[in-house]
Amino acid sequence: MNYQSTRGGAPVALEDAIMSGTAPDGGLFVPVELPHFDPADMPAHVPIRELAQLVLKPFFDGSELSGELDEICADAFTFAAPLRQIETGKQKLSVLELFHGPTAAFKDFGARFLAATMSRIIRRRDDTRPATIVVATSGDTGGAVAAAFHQRPGTRVVVLFPDGRVSPRQEHQLTCWGDNIISLAVKGEFDDCQRLAKALFADAAISAEHNLCSANSINVGRLLPQSVYYAQSSLDYLAANGEPSNYIVPTGNLGNAFACAWAKQMGFPVADMILATNANRTIPDYLDSGNWEPRSSVATLASAMDVGDPSNMERLRQLWGDADALREKLRSFSVSDDEIREQIRTEFARSGLICCPHTATGFHVYRNLLAQERKGNHWIIVATAHAAKFDDIVEPLVGEAIPVPDELARILEWPSHFDTIEPDISEITARL
Ligand SMILES: *Cc1c(COP(=O)(O)O)cnc(C)c1O
Repeated sequence: MNYQSTRGGAPVALEDAIMSGTAPDGGLFVPVELPHFDPADMPAHVPIRELAQLVLKPFFDGSELSGELDEICADAFTFAAPLRQIETGKQKLSVLELFHGPTAAFKDFGARFLAATMSRIIRRRDDTRPATIVVATSGDTGGAVAAAFHQRPGTRVVVLFPDGRVSPRQEHQLTCWGDNIISLAVKGEFDDCQRLAKALFADAAISAEHNLCSANSINVGRLLPQSVYYAQSSLDYLAANGEPSNYIVPTGNLGNAFACAWAKQMGFPVADMILATNANRTIPDYLDSGNWEPRSSVATLASAMDVGDPSNMERLRQLWGDADALREKLRSFSVSDDEIREQIRTEFARSGLICCPHTATGFHVYRNLLAQERKGNHWIIVATAHAAKFDDIVEPLVGEAIPVPDELARILEWPSHFDTIEPDISEITARL
């Protein structure tokens, strides 16, 4: 299987698509041809690592890594994505829990898979210098990438985050690693971090000298593993209940949701898809008006979804077409901060369930917008993070302490160390 830019151009091998991140023409890599699966031929109720080997096999066809796919899946899929049914009856509701990885958010799937593939590609290239992975983060991505690459031979990671603008627990997850992880607090905003990362890659001399690689969210190596939990949850539910599942995916840059679209297109039993956004309404506005109008992001309680110009829309349009065609495949609704707060309180009062602000957008869409449809079918709300990551927001709303998952608790005990720098690339290169 080869990979091609959404804007055309020559196909490249999987390794090159993963190592270069973005295509040279500014487009995003997608497989030249999406494989097709018949659910009847696929196993249900198998561990995610095993299903991943089957689902990802065609994507690795002909790659120098194809012989190592099983090992890569064992390395990457070290935690489960349980589907927990919370309501039965006419309309059934489940939650797909994507927060059982080391940093308690779905980004652990993409980051671990990227680390498992990149480290093997690097090992094969006989370059004695370490590869330097640069990641600019507004919170969740940097922690997941640092956790995934920590102590991997032949790699080091530079995490750039905006000084004082991430939550205390997020900051800890970005700065507790040491060893091959360099954490830098940039005096400025997330945009300054991103600008610095771009400036580093754009400088050919620096890029070559330090063997720079990008781990940003549009890397195809992060999307591939994400399609596996959609395949798994939809197959398992179909096997047990004979019905397909409908999904509500909280969305910012459309990475997680695009993986769901892939799963549907590949033939897995995914019926309706709804994208829940926060107050950043570029996607629902596009589906309403047909005009693609990217804009600056606004800050919300669901901060990991604060995206005004979702990059993966380019992939989604290439897969399914423009607004008119997309409207046939999916819907999208925007949820305000007040609605997020209210939803967190309501779900807790209803059943004791504590959801994070991102997941709350999905619950809001389900309770308030779908309730009147009363269709007898199965909905899955995708839980993108554990509420304990956002304790500063969620605890005051539910009025009690949220138990911290073991792995997160372990990380939070490690000492944190980082340098604070001016937004200037010389401050970064001085530390490489
Ligand atoms: C990154 C993130 C999102 C948004 O995911 P996209 O792939 O950007 O749409 C939602 N929730 C959490 C907790 C995240 O970390």
